[in-house]
Parts: sequence; structure tokens; C-alpha cells
Amino acid sequence: MTNPSTKIPSSEQPRPTRVGVLGAGQLGRMMALAGLPLGLEFSLYDTSGAPSAGVGKIYSDPKNTQEELDRFLDSVDVVTYEFEHLPLDLANNIASKKPLYPGVEALRVCQNREHEKGLFRQLSIPTPEYRIVASAEELEKAAEELGTPVVAKSVTEGYDGKGQAVLRSPNEAQAAWEAIGHPRLIAESFVHFSREVSLIAARNTQGEFIAYPLVENIHHEGILRYTIAPAPKVSQQTQDTATEYLHKLMDHLEYVGVLSLELFETPEGLLANEMAPRVHNSGHWSMDGAHTGQFENHLRAILGLPLGDTDPHRVSGMINLIGRTVDAAQILKLRDTHLHLYGKSERKGRKVGHINVNAESYAELKDKIERCLPFVPEHAPFAWSPEQNS
Ligand code: AMP
Repeated sequence: MTNPSTKIPSSEQPRPTRVGVLGAGQLGRMMALAGLPLGLEFSLYDTSGAPSAGVGKIYSDPKNTQEELDRFLDSVDVVTYEFEHLPLDLANNIASKKPLYPGVEALRVCQNREHEKGLFRQLSIPTPEYRIVASAEELEKAAEELGTPVVAKSVTEGYDGKGQAVLRSPNEAQAAWEAIGHPRLIAESFVHFSREVSLIAARNTQGEFIAYPLVENIHHEGILRYTIAPAPKVSQQTQDTATEYLHKLMDHLEYVGVLSLELFETPEGLLANEMAPRVHNSGHWSMDGAHTGQFENHLRAILGLPLGDTDPHRVSGMINLIGRTVDAAQILKLRDTHLHLYGKSERKGRKVGHINVNAESYAELKDKIERCLPFVPEHAPFAWSPEQNS
């Protein structure tokens, strides 16, 4: 018999538990893996024709028909996404039917480097000097004004260093313009940064905010290879400054979910490079290295739940597996090492998994990472800031 006093009052909405993810790759998979213990159900919508998530109910529709999208939307309470290159009309269409987090405005800004850098400027977040150009002649003029080297990037559709060129002299403008082949570019001063760092934070539907520690990212051939968390030798002031930037951005956008901000650290301070309106590869360490991982905090945020503690347990390193996977037994015999494989086939340049390593100190972390590397085929050199700058 039901006790009448335990009945939910009719004015109270049942808590949403059915999460829809646009995209069915590794980020959707890790989101679902984090959400299952919270009693959540997942539907993943795939238009690639090759969903790899391997968890949740998959709606795969390479033709991207309204019927299949509607079936997917009918099966969920709230929608989020694992990639930011979602057409805005599709995002608006979805948002008119179900809550979509992060919202359309965040997507709009993050999809366009001109809008993104403009917002950084508006909120007094320092960036590299830049100009927006719409012809080879304008690019040449921008290179003269800014001084070379200059990094030219298409304002839209670029990621992982694609759609970019470095000009060593203004007279390389025509060749760079033709190589990029885009009608609108951002030309930025080349930053001689000491290292690349990123910050991840979550903001929930009630406006509660929490940030992770700044992390150090090591790229090779335009792809993230290693993350060290927290980044070594970060002053409290630098951490606070980065957190304030992200907090301002999230409040301004009325952002809900996890937002990732990539920055250059220079002797003069931090410069914002770009942001991603989603869980981020540079936050994967948090799955095993923080009290609450980024995937769980993203879900808590979009479901209006209290956000979880972001403190790191100890120090962590993340090794990306690019193109080739590993022998699980070799990695798992190493102490404090966690393996995450994404169920994807091997292909050059493809993110197929990552390894998280935890340690008591940075010296121990370096040693543990180096013990993993012989078993990571085709790994990039591990060169982090304590060695670069010492
Ligand atoms: P992005 O697509 O903007 O993240 O750029 C990809 C990579 O290119 C960054 O991770 C940096 O290593 C490098 N990069 C981008 N912009 C600049 C810049 N203005 N100065 C120096 N390096 C840059």
C-alpha cells in the first residue's frame, strides 16, 4: 500500500533522468558511463553511420531525417551534445522541443572564432592581438600591422589545427589565403607561450559554478597527447584569474554544462585561445584523478543537481592513445594506472582511448608515465614544462 505522505505533490516536476546525447562517440560513451550509477538513461543520436559509444540506446540515422530525430527527442527529457559543429538551425529546432544544454547562444559563439574572440574582448579576457580579414590583401596588411609570425585561421570549421597557416612574412599572405581556402579568417599574432593550459568548469541550471584546477596540455602534430593535472607551478593568482575568466563567460552566456577554455601561459600572463562548449579531452584525467569527474559534473549541471567537488586526489597524467590501441595487460600491471578504451577501430590520427596515471608527486608521475610509454605504440615525445623551462 502506498503511504499517501510519500506521494510526490502534483506541483512538483519529476526529476529528469532520460539524457539524450547528440553524437555517439567516446564523449557520449564516457558521459553515459558516468551517468548510469546516478540512475540515468541514455539515448545517443548518431549521423555518422558509425556510432562507437557502445552504451545506451543508439538512434543512428546517416540521412539525418526529422522522423528519427523526433523518435530520439521523444525518448529523452534533456539534450546535450559531444561536438560543437552542430548546425544552428538544428540546434534551434531541438531547443524548441526539449531543453538543450549548453544553449544555442553558447554554440553560436563557440562555432566562430570571430564571435569567440569578440566575446573574450567584451569581457576583458586578454587574447593574442588579432585582425579579421576577408581577402589576401587584408591578410597581408594584418601581417604588416601585427608583425610576423602571424597565425591565420578560418573563423569557422577549424579544429585541431586544421584550416590554419603560419605566415613568416607578409608576402606569404597570398599562399596562406589560397591554402586555407576560406572567405573569412582571423589573423593572430604568434604567441611565444611558455606552455598551453586549459581550464574546465561546470555551471548548473541554478547558476551554481565550480572549476577544476588548471591543467597543462602537450600537443603534437595539432593533437592533444598528454595532460598534467594540476599543471605544475601554477600560482594561486593564475588559477584565480583563469577561474574568473571562465566564470564571467559562463554567467554571460547563462551557460549550463561543462565549458572548456584553452589558454596560452606567457610571462605576461594568460591569453585566451579558444573554448569548447562541452566536456573536453583535457578533462579526461578527472575520471580517475578528481573527486568528481567532468562527465558526472556535466550531467549534474544539465539536470539541475548539486555540482560535485572538483579537487584532485593527487597529481594525474593523461596519455592519449592516438591511432593505435594498447595491450591492456601491459598497462594494467602498472600501479595507479587506469585504461579507457573507446571501442573504436585503429586509424591514423584517431583518438581510440586514453590512460590515466595517478601519483603522489610530479617526479613520481613522470616516472609512471615513462613506464607506460614503451607499451604505447607511436607515442609522441613526453616533454612537459618542468623540463622545457628548467
Ligand atoms: P587552435 O585550433 O586555435 O586551438 O590552434 C591549434 C594549436 O595551434 C594551438 O594548440 C597552439 O599550439 C597553436 N596556436 C594557435 N594559435 C596560436 C597563436 N596565436 N600563437 C601561437 N600558437 C598558436
